[in-house]
Amino acid sequence: MLVGYRSSDERERALERLASAARAELHVLGASVEGRPIHAARVPCRRPGDHAALLVCAGIHGPEYIGTEVALGVLERARGAELDGLLERAELWVLPSLNPDGYERTWVRGGEGTLRALRANAHGIDLNRNYPLPAPQRKVWFDFGGWRTGSDDPENPFYRGPSPGSEPETAALLGLLAQIRFAASVSLHSAMGMLIPPCTASASSIASYRMLCGAFAAAQPHTRYRRSAHGRFDLFTGEQEDLQHHVHGTWAIAVEHYPIWVDATRFLQPNLFRRFNPPDPGRWVTNDIPGIAAYFEAALRLPRPEHEP
Ligand SMILES: [Zn+2]
Repeated sequence: MLVGYRSSDERERALERLASAARAELHVLGASVEGRPIHAARVPCRRPGDHAALLVCAGIHGPEYIGTEVALGVLERARGAELDGLLERAELWVLPSLNPDGYERTWVRGGEGTLRALRANAHGIDLNRNYPLPAPQRKVWFDFGGWRTGSDDPENPFYRGPSPGSEPETAALLGLLAQIRFAASVSLHSAMGMLIPPCTASASSIASYRMLCGAFAAAQPHTRYRRSAHGRFDLFTGEQEDLQHHVHGTWAIAVEHYPIWVDATRFLQPNLFRRFNPPDPGRWVTNDIPGIAAYFEAALRLPRPEHEP
């Protein structure tokens, strides 16, 4: 029992209820290793004719429940007026749980366990290191045990798997990305309080991400997230945002909810779940959704990212 958060069943019921209220279609994109469906809700654009598409993904790492709460919060707001500006111009896809087996494992274990045990899919693979790399990886002098580049060691929490796209959860999202060319995307994680753009050497893309992340932070009512600096902290690692930016021409960032500086002492407590998830999720749902909406608004005004050779 993880107080303040939803079990897998509660999450699925909330998705059905919120999708129905928002007049969204529910799609099954695939199934996890243990056979749990990977659901997407598609909220149609309110205007007929040509329009853009936007993507909100969460739950790729088992214990990061706050991202799922924010994704469901976005869907909840899609029925009212709060996202009118976006839904006049775009359809919105919401995937609240890209790793339903990791979510369930975290729940059953009460959030107790190692990063590797709870973060991975049922094959022990870090799904956010399993996407195809858009370009060869650079060597780095210090890798923080695989955190920066992913790992080929099955015992490592950042194990990338036997080959890119090997996992059914990854394949489910790859199938959607092959069908819909999203204009902008957010992938929701915790717990750094950071906005993480893709790895890119393009000066114009770097400037655009500076602007987009600035728009995100400026719209957050009480706690503003910082953009991670290009080049220093990010590399091609098999992460979703790198693939989306370079291969699909999508303005794509990872969002790390629930900043470290809000309560750094939580990293001293033994329960892994409590390190990654705030005791008051509603406060962060309210803080972070205006940021996501502002980021999407700003991205819809940009042309696609320039192609890098
Ligand atoms: Zn994560």
